[in-house]
Amino acid sequence: MAITVKSAAIIGLDVFEINVEVDTINSIPQVSIIGLGDTAISEAKERLRLAIKNSSFSFPQTKVVINLAPADIKKEGSSYDLAMAIGILLKENIIKDFKKDEIVFIGELSLDGSLRAVNGILPIICGLADLGIKKAIVPYENLKEASFIDEIETLGAQNLSQVVSYLNGESNLKTLKQNVEDFLDKKEEFNIDFANVKGQQIAKKALEIAAAGAHNVLMSGSPGAGKTMLSKAFMSILPPLTKQEAIELTKIYSISGLLDRSKPLITSRPFRSPHHSASAVGIIGGGSNPKPGEITLAHRGVLFLDEMVEFPRKTLEVLRQPLEDNVITISRAQNSIQYPANFILLGAMNPCPCGFLGDSKKQCTCSEYQINRYRQRLSGPLLDRIDIQIKIQRLDENELLDSSQPSEPSETIRKRVIKARKIQMERYKNEGILTNSELNSKLIKKYCKIDDTTKQFLKNAIVSFNLSARAFDRILKISRTIADLEEKENIEISHIAQALQLRSF
Ligand SMILES: [Zn+2]
Repeated sequence: MAITVKSAAIIGLDVFEINVEVDTINSIPQVSIIGLGDTAISEAKERLRLAIKNSSFSFPQTKVVINLAPADIKKEGSSYDLAMAIGILLKENIIKDFKKDEIVFIGELSLDGSLRAVNGILPIICGLADLGIKKAIVPYENLKEASFIDEIETLGAQNLSQVVSYLNGESNLKTLKQNVEDFLDKKEEFNIDFANVKGQQIAKKALEIAAAGAHNVLMSGSPGAGKTMLSKAFMSILPPLTKQEAIELTKIYSISGLLDRSKPLITSRPFRSPHHSASAVGIIGGGSNPKPGEITLAHRGVLFLDEMVEFPRKTLEVLRQPLEDNVITISRAQNSIQYPANFILLGAMNPCPCGFLGDSKKQCTCSEYQINRYRQRLSGPLLDRIDIQIKIQRLDENELLDSSQPSEPSETIRKRVIKARKIQMERYKNEGILTNSELNSKLIKKYCKIDDTTKQFLKNAIVSFNLSARAFDRILKISRTIADLEEKENIEISHIAQALQLRSF
């Protein structure tokens, strides 16, 4: 009779229970694995035989058939090794029968029988807990990562023998509980503080507003104007990660194989800055076994696109969906996968191909035709998703040397940002959004009400600045954030006036 042992599959971030069915047939000794597996799974035959033998257990002298069910879920990687070995050892009566419905086995076997860590443990354990599974056995190296989930008992084993001895009631396995909060409480360190950035008052204010309302920003300025430095300093004024955000991010880094196993929780917001020569798959995500791209690795943090117009038009256009929906859908032959991609986009560009249009020191050498063609590489629909668009001026020597006006430290700015975020969270608690940048036109009507005088002021501005109708909504959203930073209930003319400054090109 076939024996069924439980394991788990992860596709994107979705977790499925997999039944590993093992049976033997009186025939020439060999192993056959069926059920839509990839090459890593067919290679498991050799790993299983040697791992079991080298753990001093006997291997069946018959044909072993292993079926991974359900067959319509594609199985990838080597994390089913442990469940398959347990099935074989049950069949050989080396392991006494146990409640096979209650334990899920995950782990890759080495030839010597030791268990190797696998990617994606945190999302797998989370998913199993949601499916109502009470216990999981994982490689010892993965235990720290699994220990943040309370709803399921996770045990770590170093090798196959330890698992066998645990199941036979001869010994215990290690377990561990850790609090996400303990990790998040530690003070974050940032490379660049706003206190070290001289001048640039308008840019700094723009970034404070962007941080407070989670607005996307495009900065245009000559080379050396400080766009990259400002972008890096931006990280120091974003609010700290919440527990839920830290778990979300750690899941993404876990399936990407980017977690440090000794420190397995992401505790800071990511800053991702892919080069414009990066492949579309690298930025968006994808491939035959779709992995998250840069936009998903930037989730809850910042995607910095330096020299934004140099990115292939096709790549930039694909950004429109995640900028709108905060998720990216990756289609593939059998099904499509969704990854979260809720990031703040910081774009930087030169004002023209030579870089010096409007510069105080150097003359621009571009023709009007060249300048227009250069700017048109960013499409209107893409620019529509970037609320704040500002010019960054290169500082002159006086400003660089002026130390009479010390710059405000990031910590002070960050406190205002956190306060403004709290106001938004409270206001939108029944709307399913967190920040002003997520307001759609319906919600703008509800939450960005202005009186008639203010409305007339904005209408006049739209006409005189020659702004599009869509700009109307975006200016209201930014004004809402500015009012929140000032802890004002209503949007006032001064807020609108400031918001207009943040649309300077
Ligand atoms: Zn130029």
